[in-house]
Amino acid sequence: MVNAFSEEGAETGADAVGGEGDPSWGTRRSPVTRRSLIGGVVGAGLLEMLSAAPSVQNEAMAADLSAGRTGRGAAGPGELSEADESILFTADAPRVFTRAQWNARAPRRPAKVIRRRPDRIVVHHTATPNSKDGSRAHAFALSRLIQDIHMDRNRWDDAGQQLTISRGGIVMEGRNRSLKSIRDGGLAIGAQVLHHNEHTIGIENEGTYMTKAVPRRLWNSLVEVCAWLCRSYDLEPSKAIVGHRDYNKTACPGDVLYARLPALRRAVAKRLDGGSPQSGNATGDEGILPILPNLDDLT
Ligand SMILES: [Zn+2]
Repeated sequence: MVNAFSEEGAETGADAVGGEGDPSWGTRRSPVTRRSLIGGVVGAGLLEMLSAAPSVQNEAMAADLSAGRTGRGAAGPGELSEADESILFTADAPRVFTRAQWNARAPRRPAKVIRRRPDRIVVHHTATPNSKDGSRAHAFALSRLIQDIHMDRNRWDDAGQQLTISRGGIVMEGRNRSLKSIRDGGLAIGAQVLHHNEHTIGIENEGTYMTKAVPRRLWNSLVEVCAWLCRSYDLEPSKAIVGHRDYNKTACPGDVLYARLPALRRAVAKRLDGGSPQSGNATGDEGILPILPNLDDLT
């Protein structure tokens, strides 16, 4: 999930921001955006997100901030220039929206990058409401919300996870330097799985999957992202893909999504073997699950 206590590392103090009723988080957002994300209800998942855990700060490796604030607020959520629209990470990678595109804040300091590939891909759910909004604007607002919570509440350097996928299947960079590190075969150390951040890369999947099905578009993107990571890092999907609960005491990524990890591993392996994009999504994937509902079918 977005935060189940100190996923970044050792705790260094108490909540520096305030209690759960503290209205200060996300105050830069428009009320409409916040409402659309949290649905006007502070559910258990959101409370988990808001639980604060100060962190040990990553050691800066260099002075350059690869993705500083680009004037958040100057453009509305989801407003992209033509240049932005043309950005593709690599030819055979999924479309990943950059931090500049979702208008990330500058991190407190650059992520620590190690020149070593991760050996596990950690699947999370955000434990936020199962929004029906598959838009880019919603996805970008989600990324900003997560970053705000991680930086303002948890006092982390930046968003904890390296990658984020919205319910609509929109893939976004999380922690700064993540995309460059993937391309270079290294790891921008995140804050997403306590005690295991130095050998794992984390994907936050929007929603709460304790009982609800995973939207097809999210699933398709998750398969593509995992295939991309396995290809980039030369990982074997059957071993590399794990759930957050495999490492920490947490319900994340939810019972339903966790139960789908074997299917995810198979779908990714098939993709790496040359299977067509988005194979194994709506075909029952070896008969284990029926056709997944459309996003619009979900409540
Ligand atoms: Zn998690």
